[in-house]
Amino acid sequence: MAIRRILKYGQDDILHKKSRPVGKIDKRILQLLDDMVETMRSAEGVGLAAPQVGVLRRVVVIDVGDGLIELINPEIIENDGQQQGPEGCLSIPGVVGQVIRPERVKVKALNRKGEEFEVDGTGLLARALCHEIDHLNGVLFIEKAIPDTLEGE
Ligand code: ZN
Repeated sequence: MAIRRILKYGQDDILHKKSRPVGKIDKRILQLLDDMVETMRSAEGVGLAAPQVGVLRRVVVIDVGDGLIELINPEIIENDGQQQGPEGCLSIPGVVGQVIRPERVKVKALNRKGEEFEVDGTGLLARALCHEIDHLNGVLFIEKAIPDTLEGE
């Protein structure tokens, strides 16, 4: 395992690009997952998406304190309600802002064995799932934040 460098907003346009789905889950993807977990933990983040370490593939890791979730090719298949809360991003250090997200999302993805599974998340987990899946589409939270609430820019 290795800690990878987290790309920072303004330094790299990779963060604005759309990631490609993973076809075969090979050694490189497994290594990427392991490295992303280590990188997220070392940065004390609750989530990390592959483009943040410079890899344009649809891979996300999340741990909001209830255990690690590894997602390959995640897709939001249901969403309900609305919540507003503060968000930040390891790629935009020091900046926080209020973002409106669904209160609950259901996400379909593959695990590292290539098996399909679903995650049902509310509150912080729903927020993290939306934030990280946005990264796979080249979307950053500052583009969705309520403008008056952005601090630290
Ligand atoms: Zn982020």
